Amino acid sequence: MKKIQHFVNGQLFSGNSKRVGKVFNPATGEQSAEVILASTKDINDAVANAAEAFESWSNKPPLQRARIMFKFKELIEKNSDELTKIIVSEHGKVYEDAKGSLTRGLEVVEYACGIPQLLKGEFTENVGTDVDSWSIRQPLGVCAGITPFNFPAMVPMWMFPMAIACGNTFILKPSEKDPSCALRLAELLKEAGLPNGVFNVVNGDKESVDALIDNKEVAAISFVGSTPIAKYIYENCAKNEKRVQALGGAKNHCVVMPDCDLDQAVNGLMGAAYGSAGERCMAQSVAVAVGGIGDKLVNALAKKVETLKVGPGMDKQSEMGPLVTKEHLEKVKGYVDLGVKEGAKLVVDGRDFKIQGYENGYYIGGCLFDNVTKDMRIYKEEIFGPVLSVVRAKDFNEALNLVNKHEFGNGVSIFTRDGDSGRTFSNKAKIGMVGVNIPIPVPMAFHSFGGWKRSLFGDQHMHGPEGVRFYTKLKTITSRWPSGLRSDPEFTMPTMK
Ligand code: NAD
Repeated sequence: MKKIQHFVNGQLFSGNSKRVGKVFNPATGEQSAEVILASTKDINDAVANAAEAFESWSNKPPLQRARIMFKFKELIEKNSDELTKIIVSEHGKVYEDAKGSLTRGLEVVEYACGIPQLLKGEFTENVGTDVDSWSIRQPLGVCAGITPFNFPAMVPMWMFPMAIACGNTFILKPSEKDPSCALRLAELLKEAGLPNGVFNVVNGDKESVDALIDNKEVAAISFVGSTPIAKYIYENCAKNEKRVQALGGAKNHCVVMPDCDLDQAVNGLMGAAYGSAGERCMAQSVAVAVGGIGDKLVNALAKKVETLKVGPGMDKQSEMGPLVTKEHLEKVKGYVDLGVKEGAKLVVDGRDFKIQGYENGYYIGGCLFDNVTKDMRIYKEEIFGPVLSVVRAKDFNEALNLVNKHEFGNGVSIFTRDGDSGRTFSNKAKIGMVGVNIPIPVPMAFHSFGGWKRSLFGDQHMHGPEGVRFYTKLKTITSRWPSGLRSDPEFTMPTMK
């Protein structure tokens, strides 16, 4: 059985742990590898190494760091087919979707190539008489990233290109469900000329995460995953005086106004609810049908959900692949059972979906519920599967109220032809990322990504300008060079004269 190791100090590293996890191919249900789950000692060794590498890496001029990012960008492009296939083989999503997610990660690398410009700082000449003042941003030290299974390339790439370009060293702890992509990215960074110890991958589970939180040399942790773990990371990093950004789960609504272009809304919803089998933090899992559009919307959706092409990710015909693991498949099916029990109307039932030749794969067909209400658990909780719930709302205000009362606040969108509805909605929604006639409003790399409420614990969003702020600390220097005159001691608060 293939054994997946760690990557520390520029080479593969197996550490001293005897614990392993199983990695599967979700399309077939076959185990493809064992992944070593790091011990606390393995983590501490990796961090010590990264701390040593920080000394010289942080002193490298930003331009030299940028040149490595440029080379890394070329290598990702050159190896994109291989990286995409690795994602498909362990996550299960369809090839073109996996490739798109890699591109969204690549865009962060492109943004990080501009680091000399981004780190320029601010200067005021003569802030007081003959006194100058300037502000600079310096790297933090060893930073760590803990990432979820659903974007094995993109989510780590929201973090490490920014952290490294800012002059930090980095430990990535990817999801133990699909760890191989991170290791290939580490090899490509090395090929791009990144010095050993600057980027490290340590595979593991809770033990590794706790070791990172407890290690005093780790200055900051970026986390993306489910809300309970995000909250745990946030609280414990705060306790240990670490900088932290912890992105959590979601329940993204799509408000469908009666005046919208229905085809556009339906097509948008199909991709956003069923793309990547609903395993996206920006997936739309609730459609809010406003006014009289409900029946038309549900009928149009039902036709498309029934004919959704579900199959292995490498099959060019597939629109939706399997779920990531057998346990997750059971969990999603359990939510569909629950919805029926709670009294929602199951318009399309994908629970018994099977494909010939792939009977052991983790497939489920698209599921569509109508008449879901706000007190049902299938409305309140994140299902993270291809299950779309339609909720009916009498008017715009009721729809907006639903959005704003929900505990999650990652993404939301509205479909309308009315500028006033679109603008008011963007202004009033208590949500981090809003789309107007855009089903999945994931910001580009040069903006920043993040939700509100229980979808993000911490102050800064990921990548873009917020990424630079998160991975650097501000220092302000005030100086003067008095010539000849010596001033007497001053015992009052200095003010600029
Ligand atoms: P998860 O929370 O189970 O795991 C995320 C990471 O935390 C993994 O690396 C895992 O090893 C680690 N982990 C798991 N249990 C832990 C524990 N008890 N203590 C410490 N660490 C632990 O999430 P997942 O199932 O891999 O990913 C799906 C979730 O991620 C969904 O909730 C989804 O919404 C969320 N997500 C959010 C965003 C966002 O931007 N807000 C993006 C992608 C995914």
